[in-house]
Amino acid sequence: MKVAVITGASRGIGRACAIRLAADGYTVVINYSHSEEQAKEVLNDIEKSGGSGMTCRADVSDLKAVKAMMREVINTYGQIDVLVNNAGVVKDEYLFMLNSDTLDRCMDINVKGYLYCAQQAALKMFRKKKGVIVNMSSVSSQMAIAGQSVYSATKGAVNSMTRTMAKELAPYGIRVNAVAPGFIETEMIDSIPEDKREEYLKAIPLGRLGKAEDVANVVSMLCSDCCAYMTGQTLVLDGGLSL
Ligand code: NAP
Repeated sequence: MKVAVITGASRGIGRACAIRLAADGYTVVINYSHSEEQAKEVLNDIEKSGGSGMTCRADVSDLKAVKAMMREVINTYGQIDVLVNNAGVVKDEYLFMLNSDTLDRCMDINVKGYLYCAQQAALKMFRKKKGVIVNMSSVSSQMAIAGQSVYSATKGAVNSMTRTMAKELAPYGIRVNAVAPGFIETEMIDSIPEDKREEYLKAIPLGRLGKAEDVANVVSMLCSDCCAYMTGQTLVLDGGLSL
């Protein structure tokens, strides 16, 4: 048995990762913070296709909740083989309009949440001297998009923590990599106005927005032994947008 914990898996990229990893043979833990019904639907879809798993409510920015989630996973399955640190939020605000609540929320979920989940999962993986962590970054970590100073700072932090965690955890057989998607068709980008969306589309050499499944395919590859010698890397997946 192999167990994968995917944070923010009630919809979007996390949902696609849960479905893909279940198809790869993992028992999946579908984490969410509010969307219980959606999380249950994801589990239902997985079970209908012959997979297995559980849903688990935990706000990743709350260390106590993260500890309780990892404990529940260990009590249920006895191991954690993969963590996909995916739960994230975005709120575009120009610097002049920057609100401290936005800053705190993005830092708490996109930075502290990743560190809490990685720490707690690694403490479980450490016993087996084997594990994989995949952090969801963004092309915004490398490409300047006006209005995203906070979001880009959080995703830049994800790239940096990926390298440092990779070095710290390599002696324990734990690999850590990141994926930096461009514009992916999920609810997260629903708020982009139509004219802006057209503009971004024109700037993508492959001529389309990404699909959550495009990201899940790369996450699946990073979790597999195909990438057994890869750690500390951030793979950009943006249809060429940042070229
Ligand atoms: P999404 O559709 O908005 O889904 C976000 C997921 O995160 C939901 O399942 C949500 O569940 C969960 N979540 C939010 N806050 C949470 C918290 N505090 N604790 C636990 N779960 C929480 O977003 P997405 O587009 O799939 O994005 C997923 C990741 O990819 C994010 O890290 C995002 O920054 C990154 N990304 C997305 C794009 C894109 O174009 N879509 C591009 C680059 C990077 P609840 O509703 O239950 O809170």
